[in-house]
Amino acid sequence: MERIALFPGSFDPFTKGHEDIVLRGLRLFDKVVIGIGNNATKKRYFPLDVMKEMIERTFAGQSKVIVVTYDDLTAHVARELGARFLLRGLRNTTDFEYENGISQVNRYLYEEIETVFLITSPSLAPISSSIIRDLHRYGQGIDNFLPYSLSELNKLNHEG
Ligand code: ADP
Repeated sequence: MERIALFPGSFDPFTKGHEDIVLRGLRLFDKVVIGIGNNATKKRYFPLDVMKEMIERTFAGQSKVIVVTYDDLTAHVARELGARFLLRGLRNTTDFEYENGISQVNRYLYEEIETVFLITSPSLAPISSSIIRDLHRYGQGIDNFLPYSLSELNKLNHEG
């Protein structure tokens, strides 16, 4: 049976820290599905369709990675995809407290699911989407934190 992992997140934006989790996840699973949660009540900073495109470009030629968007409970999406694993990154104890709670709820919703946590690579641990959004909001370059180029993202943003 294929070992499929769903890597769920807001990815607003998708960072080099997220990329690292996907690449390491590929050593453990046959397929990694990156699921961009589209919570209708939360306004995004980077548009969903543009971010999906940038992630797809990041993993172009990598057939074991696919990108989906969803507006549903993560556990339900995992079940529909046939994914018995959730992949998450752990940066610090604050992440742990939060992740501990959601992983219990996900097991309650889908008994067979296992959440697999990868400890962040030390050089990438300080990267967070919210800090990157703040840097960008105030005009600071953020390309060093992203696995794709912001100018490409801007181009798509304006076309769309
Ligand atoms: P969410 O809104 O679900 O927390 P995020 O997009 O912020 O989604 O993060 C998705 C996952 O990636 C989470 O498991 C988070 O801990 C992890 N993550 C975020 N930043 C990093 C990083 N720099 N290195 C490794 N994992 C990270």
